[in-house]
Amino acid sequence: MTKIKIAIVGLGKIARDQHLPSLKASAAFDLVAVASPHDRLDGIPSFADIGSMLRAMPDIEAIALCTTPQVRYALARTALDHGCHVLLEKPPGVTLGEVQSLKEIAEKREVTLLASWHSRFARGVEPARAWLASRKILHVEITWKENVRVWHPGQAWIWKAGGLGVFDPGINALSILTQIIPGALVLKGAQLSFPSNCETPIAAQLEIQIASGAITRVDLDFLQTGPQTWNIDVDTDAGRLSLGMGGTLMSIDNQEVTIAQTPEYASLYAHFAHLVQQRASDVDVTPLQLVADAFMCGRRIEVAPFID
Ligand code: NAP
Repeated sequence: MTKIKIAIVGLGKIARDQHLPSLKASAAFDLVAVASPHDRLDGIPSFADIGSMLRAMPDIEAIALCTTPQVRYALARTALDHGCHVLLEKPPGVTLGEVQSLKEIAEKREVTLLASWHSRFARGVEPARAWLASRKILHVEITWKENVRVWHPGQAWIWKAGGLGVFDPGINALSILTQIIPGALVLKGAQLSFPSNCETPIAAQLEIQIASGAITRVDLDFLQTGPQTWNIDVDTDAGRLSLGMGGTLMSIDNQEVTIAQTPEYASLYAHFAHLVQQRASDVDVTPLQLVADAFMCGRRIEVAPFID
């Protein structure tokens, strides 16, 4: 099979940590270029911006957009208008309108658009979805608490409008929730804590009603020192299912369940390759919609300024 010629746009932390190694190991993709304002990649043609890259290498077939969210829409439009298949890192846009617009452009151009949610490919997520499908869900508890100074040092964009603040990791939890719980989820209430010097929240508590009527409580914190917690606990009529470490561990009533070992981004790129082969798209905005609803109806509290 001929490999799909792909370029990475935005050579930052996630591109280096996950996209580069996954593409190196991929049988479906060939990394042929990168575009990033201040970074180059040894041995790969590197450009300062997407426009000069596409002019110099018009045969690029796919683009993984790994930039900060605030610039993603304009870059995605350029890529789609060029006829490229596009993988959007999460979140797929800073507004729901941006994502809808990209979906329509991709349809018109007959190219693939993937609004990727990498946490949905965490090892425990599919087994959890399958186990929960036949159970009555009574209550869900999400605890997503990490130290922003450890995981996002110096990333000023997180604190600017559109950067999502604590929802940058928190949306990963919501992407898992919306994958494992069947039916529509409705935000019932939210409290968002904004540092006095930031445009995005540093902590949030949400209450979400699921289709069965049961409530999900979500507790997000960006100032967690000590153990870092990325847990989802689901109480059902057949016991408690727990996903730990961002969905990589699964247990039922505290008994660990053995699950497959495929890494998240390998599965994500396999999904992208499959979509490209099918000329199909996967654009699910439900995690972003829950965040948007929290911003729209959440109670706002001002807290101490954040100093990185
Ligand atoms: P980051 O380290 O700040 O990297 C962002 C990169 O985008 C930087 O290299 C930046 O270049 C580049 N960039 C900015 N504007 C650009 C433009 N117009 N054209 C091309 N490149 C541009 O951020 P990150 O942590 O990798 O996060 C990026 C995205 O991935 C976010 O949406 C985040 O939610 C998501 N993500 C992050 C992680 C993680 O663990 N960090 C995990 C999963 C998903 P300069 O800095 O040189 O300007």
